[in-house]
Amino acid sequence: MAKTAIIGGGAAGFFCAIQLKTFCSDMEVTIFESKSRVLSKVEISGGGRCNCTNTFRNVTSLSQVYPRGFRLMNRLFKQFGPKEVYLWFENHGVDLVVQDDECVFPKSQDSHTIINCFLNEAYKLGIKIKLNSKIENPLSLFDEFDYVVLTTGGLSHNYEQKLSDFISVIPCVPSLFTFTIKDKALNLLMGLVVDDVKVTIPNTKLSSQGPLLITHWGVSGPSILKLSSYAARFLAENNYKSPLIINWSGITNTDSVYTELHDISTNNSQKQVSSYRPFGLQTRLWEYLLEKAEIKCKWGELGNKGINKLTNIICNDKYEIDGRAPFKDEFVTCGGVDLKNINMSTLESKQIPHLYFAGEILDIDGITGGFNFQAAWTTAYAVADAIQRTVKN
Ligand SMILES: Cc1cc2nc3c(=O)[nH]c(=O)nc-3n(C[C@H](O)[C@H](O)[C@H](O)COP(=O)(O)OP(=O)(O)OC[C@H]3O[C@@H](n4cnc5c(N)ncnc54)[C@H](O)[C@@H]3O)c2cc1C
Repeated sequence: MAKTAIIGGGAAGFFCAIQLKTFCSDMEVTIFESKSRVLSKVEISGGGRCNCTNTFRNVTSLSQVYPRGFRLMNRLFKQFGPKEVYLWFENHGVDLVVQDDECVFPKSQDSHTIINCFLNEAYKLGIKIKLNSKIENPLSLFDEFDYVVLTTGGLSHNYEQKLSDFISVIPCVPSLFTFTIKDKALNLLMGLVVDDVKVTIPNTKLSSQGPLLITHWGVSGPSILKLSSYAARFLAENNYKSPLIINWSGITNTDSVYTELHDISTNNSQKQVSSYRPFGLQTRLWEYLLEKAEIKCKWGELGNKGINKLTNIICNDKYEIDGRAPFKDEFVTCGGVDLKNINMSTLESKQIPHLYFAGEILDIDGITGGFNFQAAWTTAYAVADAIQRTVKN
């Protein structure tokens, strides 16, 4: 009887074990988990609701949502993509709901529904679970097991070093974090949400668009988290210090912004600039921007110079990122096992036969919205399928 060891009792580890046992009922599958409990990240994910996947309806290219690993995901989605994940959960008794933003959650709005599903399946299938079993040297398990699957999640510095002895690892840095901006006047606007802004790191191609939340430490919200993901390595290399441009209008073409302001100025010449807010900007934000640009006059008194100044403060408002602030709801690592070293269809090491990788340990990571769990399920499925094919051949 063939034996498989799965190192890591998280999302990818459980999914891989269940799928493998479903394919090969006579295989012995053991999960080794370093902690005293399994699936701890699933439990806290999505604010305790577990955003387990996404419909991908708003995604035109996987590179938008997987800054690293999108080619591999493209390939693996042909075998087991979001539709298959949706069906998998529903067929295993987890009813799902799709939110307006295309994020998918269990209908119960409780991550325990998924945890219970995995634990029940594991029990039914006879998967062995060894808790408090930290595996320092994965290769040592080949003494007892035929296949070893590493699903240990985002790598700590220590583990990164250990793995580097036998596989090339891209150093891990954090992704999905918010920015500290030390600007007292901005910080006073905490709690303010602007629905559609464009944020850019100047002199790079790094930018993103979406809602932005002003916090007491700086800026947060989907646009910032997305940018932190795209810019994860750039910001790490720059010690989390960089200029940041906020375009509060969300309109990329500054000429259109100028034209709109010009029209407002012509049609509202007798009104104070502060009393007529363009682009639906909130009063507090508009007053803050006018103060920053030192504009205190009527629309009709602005002239071309004044309108240019306004266009500039709305579209090119410059700040300094001064460090990384934690985002409590989701956090992943950028980096991990170098995809060049693994077979792109089976996720098996090219150097060490029968050693496989799935989940966040791979150099694949996504933006927020259920994309990271999707990567865990897809890669775990690919490994289970690859092992069953080897066994059956
Ligand atoms: C707070 C938070 C909320 C999140 N919310 C979402 C969300 O809603 N949607 C989404 O898509 N993504 C979310 N994520 C990301 C998601 O949790 C991860 O992408 C996903 O858990 C990765 O799965 P994994 O199995 O690869 O790793 P993990 O889930 O991290 O599992 C790895 C397991 O391996 C164990 N382990 C580590 N080293 C060893 C060792 N040497 N020996 C034995 N065991 C070991 C760990 O203890 C852990 O149990 C969130 C992340 C965080 C931190």
